[in-house]
Amino acid sequence: PPTPHSDIDPSRLTITLVPEDKLKEIPHADDLIFGQLFTDHMLYLEYDPASGWSAPEIRPYGPLTLDPASSCFQYCTNVFEGMKAYLGPDGVPRLFRPKLNMARMAKSAARVALPPFDTDAFLVLLQKLIAIDARWIPRARGHSLYLRPTLIGTRPGLGVTASTHASLYVIMSPAGPFFRTPAGISLYAVSDHVRSWPGGTGGHKLGLNYAPGFHPQRLAAEKGYQQVLWLLGDTITEAGAMNFFIALKREDGHLDIVTPPLDGTILPGVTRASVLSLLNAHPSATSLPHLSNSLRLYTHERPITMPELVAWSASGQLVEAFCVGTAVVVNAISRIGWEERDIVLPSYGGDHIGPVVRALWERLVDIQEGRVEWEGWSVT
Ligand code: PMP
Repeated sequence: PPTPHSDIDPSRLTITLVPEDKLKEIPHADDLIFGQLFTDHMLYLEYDPASGWSAPEIRPYGPLTLDPASSCFQYCTNVFEGMKAYLGPDGVPRLFRPKLNMARMAKSAARVALPPFDTDAFLVLLQKLIAIDARWIPRARGHSLYLRPTLIGTRPGLGVTASTHASLYVIMSPAGPFFRTPAGISLYAVSDHVRSWPGGTGGHKLGLNYAPGFHPQRLAAEKGYQQVLWLLGDTITEAGAMNFFIALKREDGHLDIVTPPLDGTILPGVTRASVLSLLNAHPSATSLPHLSNSLRLYTHERPITMPELVAWSASGQLVEAFCVGTAVVVNAISRIGWEERDIVLPSYGGDHIGPVVRALWERLVDIQEGRVEWEGWSVT
């Protein structure tokens, strides 16, 4: 029996399997639309202030029943994470630095006053779920199973106050490459709609940060751009739901790689942190392929403004721009629209995938799929 205020306890897990697999054969991930098809099972737990976290359940994927007055519907007490399970050549499912996602989720939960939980215990359950639905992980290089841990406030009542009740669940969806334009994506820089601001919630992974982006995203698409480049004044924060990087050629021939600082207005991406580590480790033997060992990479976490970007583009210093995130890994940027002009990135033999993007993508995927061991980042 549950003890009062019990935390998540993996030893109380119950597993109910589907009577029959949903699909005989999982479609090739190239034929899938991101986040549309879900695996057979989900992980589910509830928090009640009287008894704490319920016994965890792995059960068939299916609808939830919630009171229409639930806090998540009324006041947006919604927290989520985005992670992936990868299958390497050894056939073993792997997670990439999952403790970083768990820590970020705990911070997000605290920001909207949702109940805390034992993230190590939650990770053990997540690993169980992946093992049960492992046949859904696509095998092809760069393909994976996208995981969506979700925490919602379920307090039934309209009082404008913290949710005393919550549900915590994980659903999973097979995924191919996020953008089908490997030659680079286009961004439209927007400052009239603002994603985040000092003291706001942009540094947390909350559902409420995303809904206000859908209208500007639609306007950018109508102008022929794939994603929004979010500005605060004329300072770049992020691109869509990805962190932003540029590579600048220095006078000495080496490269400065610049990304905006974690000042609370951008999400502290797991991929961003990993990219910075790999760049800083170059030229150690296992760091970056394709980049000359004599090339020095100087990383900088500092603000980047649009007028600076225009000037660096005009002078030829701006050699690469790219977005990073769990969904895309690393994706080149081909052009950036701002105030009726386009900043066009250099082309390398017909596309915009420069050597830094190529090296980072390959090295990250190698680590994620267990081909290269690096700093214990890949967790079976
Ligand atoms: N910024 C935002 C707003 C995001 O939603 C994401 C995706 N989680 C990222 C950046 C990239 O973060 P990560 O590398 O952890 O996926």
